[in-house]
Amino acid sequence: MTIDYNKISVRVRLGALRRNFELLRRLAPAPMAVIKSDAYGHGLLPVARTLEAVGADSFAAGTVGECALLRDGGIPGRIVALLGATDATDAECCIARSIVPAVYSADQLEMLASRAAPGQQVDIALKFDTGMARLGFTEADLPALLDRLHARPMLRPVLAMSHLAVSDDPARSDFTREQGEIFSRILSGVRGVWPAVQGSLANSAGLLAHPELHFDVQRPGIALYGSNPLRGTALAHLGDGLEPAMDVATPILQVHPLPTGRSISYGRTFTAPRDMAVAIVAAGYADAYSRGLSGKGAMTVHGRRAPILGRVCMQMTAVDVSHIPGVAAGDAAYLMGGPGEALTPDDLADLWGTISYEVLCLLGMNPRTHEA
Ligand SMILES: *Cc1c(COP(=O)(O)O)cnc(C)c1O
Repeated sequence: MTIDYNKISVRVRLGALRRNFELLRRLAPAPMAVIKSDAYGHGLLPVARTLEAVGADSFAAGTVGECALLRDGGIPGRIVALLGATDATDAECCIARSIVPAVYSADQLEMLASRAAPGQQVDIALKFDTGMARLGFTEADLPALLDRLHARPMLRPVLAMSHLAVSDDPARSDFTREQGEIFSRILSGVRGVWPAVQGSLANSAGLLAHPELHFDVQRPGIALYGSNPLRGTALAHLGDGLEPAMDVATPILQVHPLPTGRSISYGRTFTAPRDMAVAIVAAGYADAYSRGLSGKGAMTVHGRRAPILGRVCMQMTAVDVSHIPGVAAGDAAYLMGGPGEALTPDDLADLWGTISYEVLCLLGMNPRTHEA
C-alpha cells in the first residue's frame, strides 16, 4: 500500500483467494503460489498467511526484499525469489533466511558460492530461457553451467524453472509445446547430475490448459486472484469457478444536474445530449485509476453501471447516474467489484486497454483492508 490520504478503499476477500487456490490444487498436484508485486496488489503477507493456512507450502515472490518480508513475517516452507539475487546484499539475505534465489547468470552463482559458510549448502533455483528471451540460461549454456556447478558443491539446485510466453493463447499452443520440449531436455540434463531437482514450467494458463506441462511444481499467479487467463479463447471454460477477490470503492462527493448542452471536466470532451444527473466520485489518476479511462470507462453505483463522463481528473471523476434513482453524496461508487453489475478485473482491464494483472497491481496500491 503506497497511496495515502485518499478516499479509496480496497477490500480483499481472502475467502475467494482460498477457494481459488483450492480449485487450482484440485487440477494440479503442487502449486507454488506466485505472490510477487505485493501478491498482485492483494497484500503479500495476508495472502501468504491465508494460503499457508490451507496447505500452500511454497511461494514465489519477485525481489529478495519481498521474500525477506515473507520469511520475517513467519512464512515457513520454500520461498523463491523470481528476480534472483541482484547484488551482494540480496545474496547474503537469501543465505541468511533460506530464500531460494532464481539464478540466471554465472556472476550470481559466484556471488552466492563465495558467501556460503564453510560446509553450508545453499539451495538455488536454476532459471532457463526456453522462449521468453528474458532471463535464464539457454539449453546451449547447460554443459558449461553443469561444469561450473560441479566445481561449487556448496550450491545445491533444487528447482529448474522456465516461463511460458503464450500459454494463454490455445491457438498458438505449438510454441508452448516447443517450450515444453526444450524444457524437458534441459530438465533431463540437470537431473543427470541432481536427480531430485524439481521441474517447474506452468503459469496459470499453463496449469489450466496444459496438464502435460505440469512437471513437479506449477506456478499460478493471476488465477489465484480470480482472473481467467484463458478468457475469450476456446478453452475459457477451464477457468470456470475462479472468483475475483478485490473490491475497490470510493465515496461520491456530490450529485448534480448536467443540463443539455453543458460540458463536463477538462478539455470539454463530453457535452450532455440531454438533461443528465452526474455523480462526482473521489477517484482519479493519482489513485492509480487510469486517465485512459476518460470517456470510456464505467463504475457501478447502487449495483448499476455508471459510465464515465469526460476526462478522469487527478482525484475526481464524473459518472452518469441519470438512470439510477436515489444516488446521494456519501454513497459508494465501485471502481471494480461490489454488488450488482460489478466490473471484474478483466472488464476493467478491457476498458483501460490493459490486462487484469496491471489493474490489480495498480489499484491494490490504495488503502486496503482484508476480510476473512
Ligand atoms: C508472474 C509469474 C508467474 C505467474 O504467472 P500468471 O500468468 O500470473 O499465472 C509464474 N512464473 C513466473 C516466473 C512469473 O514471473
